[in-house]
Amino acid sequence: MEFQWYPGHMSKAKRAMQEDLKLINVIIELVDARVPLSSKNPDIDPMANGKSRIILLNKCDLADSSVTARWKKYYEEKGFFVALVNSKNGKGVKQVNEVIQSACKEKIERDRRRGILNRPIRAMIVGIPNVGKSTFINSFAGKSCTKTGNKPGVTKGKQWIRLNKNVELLDTPGILWPKFEDQTVGLRLAFIGSIKDELSNQYELCMLLMQYLGEHYPKAIPDTYQIEPAENEVELLERVAKRRGCLKAGGEHDLDKAANYVIDDFRNGRLGCISLEQPEK
Ligand code: GDP
Repeated sequence: MEFQWYPGHMSKAKRAMQEDLKLINVIIELVDARVPLSSKNPDIDPMANGKSRIILLNKCDLADSSVTARWKKYYEEKGFFVALVNSKNGKGVKQVNEVIQSACKEKIERDRRRGILNRPIRAMIVGIPNVGKSTFINSFAGKSCTKTGNKPGVTKGKQWIRLNKNVELLDTPGILWPKFEDQTVGLRLAFIGSIKDELSNQYELCMLLMQYLGEHYPKAIPDTYQIEPAENEVELLERVAKRRGCLKAGGEHDLDKAANYVIDDFRNGRLGCISLEQPEK
């Protein structure tokens, strides 16, 4: 399977982001907790020069918590402030406020020494498509927040969401494009559904997912579908098809349909909390 992206949009988005980055103090980068490396685009690093950096391991409800804990440590050792969040149900979202304060401690103290009081910290959300940026912003900002815009010192047209008296968030997130250095990254992003399904063959994708699960989470499929483990992936998928009643007109098992179930069930967390990559030792 080959995965590609369309670099056409990229340079324009990148330029826009560079402009936005000039306005802010702290970059809040969302990554998918199931693939914290493959869902991170390191191209932002040189652009982020001198800014405080926060990484949010989002969708942590879908990932394996012991592996997520290791990713937290991994990024902390690289100098990031890190938090685990589930933007969908709001878990961990409020605490991001404290993380922002910690990440911007130096700036706050510098302002205070210079006699600058009440200048809010400005933050921006960035991340690849589908990582949960809008969901996070909605959850973080809640209903009580006021939008501010076109006020002196604010670039015309920019909308800021005032989170509290100390923090303002740019209301449009920066979109980073996934970076495919190798096909493994593309494959992992296809597993989580970050790459359009038309680009990939679902049956083949499912076989590869089952192979990974067989190695790392061998009970996930048998337990979820209440079936016996099998010798190989094809046989296991046949059992899934049988259990889920995926049949073709002639009565034969519809493996494509079963493959779609498995992929969907993985993406929705019905196969359990599963991480697709581990930090290197
Ligand atoms: P964006 O493209 O980065 O803005 O991503 P969205 O905010 O549109 O989210 C993409 C999908 O991920 C949506 O279906 C969200 O409901 C889902 N999502 C976002 N955050 C979480 C999370 O923490 N946990 C789970 N399970 N789903 C999430």
